[in-house]
Amino acid sequence: MKIKRIEIIGFKSFVDRTVLNFEPGVTAILGPNGCGKSNVIDAIRWAMGEQNAKNLRGQAMEDVIFGGSKKRRPHGMAEVTMVFANPQSAGTSEFNQYSEIMITRRLYRNGDSEYLLNKTPCRLKDISELFMDTGVGARAYSIIEQGKIGSILHSRPEERRVLIEEAAGVTKYKARKKAALRKIESTRQNLTRLNDVIGEVK
Ligand code: ATP
Repeated sequence: MKIKRIEIIGFKSFVDRTVLNFEPGVTAILGPNGCGKSNVIDAIRWAMGEQNAKNLRGQAMEDVIFGGSKKRRPHGMAEVTMVFANPQSAGTSEFNQYSEIMITRRLYRNGDSEYLLNKTPCRLKDISELFMDTGVGARAYSIIEQGKIGSILHSRPEERRVLIEEAAGVTKYKARKKAALRKIESTRQNLTRLNDVIGEVK
């Protein structure tokens, strides 16, 4: 899955609407210290559902909203939209009709938040499922930050296996198996309860 464009509004240092286009080939983001290069990576990770503010170099999630500067007042909302080219193989067949997939995350200062998939409100789960096994995601291997290579090399075999399973396309099925097992368990409990009630009625 290839990123075509990122649109950022009110996220960290990007107070005004900023659009980054990713043309075919390699894109490098250059700039002086503190100009916001890492904030772009934070924006990508956040849009794809990161829930831990510390992984975005903040204390609380509200820290991602532009906090004001000498000349500008703080923003009330942060919004990041990522646009992906949609290869035939991407995700569920439901989305194969679209040439682009657009995901948006919004956070308001009062704590309200929204996720949108192709401009339609959705759950974070829908976004996570769409990107499962594509290598794209808040924690997936598509983001290799400083020190990541070292940590992969030094990780325990079980941790390294998670990466290999994601790359091999197994993750999605493992997640579905887990959800199915949960459902079976809750159905089993319901049946037990039902049998108890039947026993009492008899
Ligand atoms: P370096 O090259 O040193 O790693 P960088 O280009 O990666 O720097 P970032 O870390 O992305 O820079 O950006 C840091 C800047 O973002 C700081 O100036 C910081 O004040 C600003 N910043 C971070 N969060 C917010 C926020 N919520 N509101 C306003 N500005 C913010």
